[in-house]
Amino acid sequence: TPGRNGSREAQLPTVIDPDVPSIARAYDATLGGKDNYEVDREVARQLREVTPEVTTLAWDNRDFLIRATRFIVGTVGIDQIVDVGSGLPTVENTHDVAVRFNPDTCVVYVDIDPIVIAHGRALVEDHETVHCVQGDLTAPETLLRDPEVAGRLDWDRPMALYQVGTLHHVADDRDPAAMMRTYVDALPSGSHVVLSHFFSPGDEDPEAAAVAERLEHAFLHSPMGTGRFRTREEIAAYFDGLEFVDPGLETLAYWWPEGPPPENLDPARRLMIGAVARKP
Ligand code: SAM
Repeated sequence: TPGRNGSREAQLPTVIDPDVPSIARAYDATLGGKDNYEVDREVARQLREVTPEVTTLAWDNRDFLIRATRFIVGTVGIDQIVDVGSGLPTVENTHDVAVRFNPDTCVVYVDIDPIVIAHGRALVEDHETVHCVQGDLTAPETLLRDPEVAGRLDWDRPMALYQVGTLHHVADDRDPAAMMRTYVDALPSGSHVVLSHFFSPGDEDPEAAAVAERLEHAFLHSPMGTGRFRTREEIAAYFDGLEFVDPGLETLAYWWPEGPPPENLDPARRLMIGAVARKP
């Protein structure tokens, strides 16, 4: 088991470089947050040049995370959450939502970005059951064995694993579907997965597909170099071995919308899909 001073820690980034954009900071900039640098805001600007609605899409993703958390804690009754690739603290973080339903909910935030860990630890220091751990989601076995992750969880009871807006930052040759299989295999029965992902709708929605192509180009050619828009089949494969909870793999704005579902969604807002699914 790799310890806190083991070799994998040495491979995780420890330096915050204000001259190189990071996924977490560029996302924060897109959401209108303050924890970002000029290089990150430049990436956000380039994405908005493709379509200004990219901001609304980012908020659709955040809103999905909030509604899914209400479902996980409030409806299913799960009280332990591993939020992988959790991002910089913003309004209504996973634990803010969860503790309103159950103040004892254990939330383990995991992210690779040192700025997320620094801000996250400051935010959660008063919460005994909320933790912030640096880890690499592309090494699921190592991450799940990390005592700071594994040791916080009761592996005899259901838990929720979040991969919200994360796997599109993993390149095809890293095989994100295999990573998900490792995560899902490790989960106790009755656990749930919450996952959202950039979506390439193809012939299903040519108008949105054209925007997806331009956005993916902007992401992949940004200094971050990641952001894959995948097909419905590719994204569905991340839920292998799981049963979808209604309404299934859905456009984020339509996954349990509050009130009547929004009509005439801008094409950009049709470019992320997500679901909650249960391990039998
Ligand atoms: N889950 C949050 C949400 O949906 O609002 C944040 C999503 S943000 C777009 C993606 C996050 O994944 C960033 O905070 C980034 O640092 C993190 N991330 C990217 N690659 C990662 C990796 N290999 N291991 C852990 N976290 C990673």
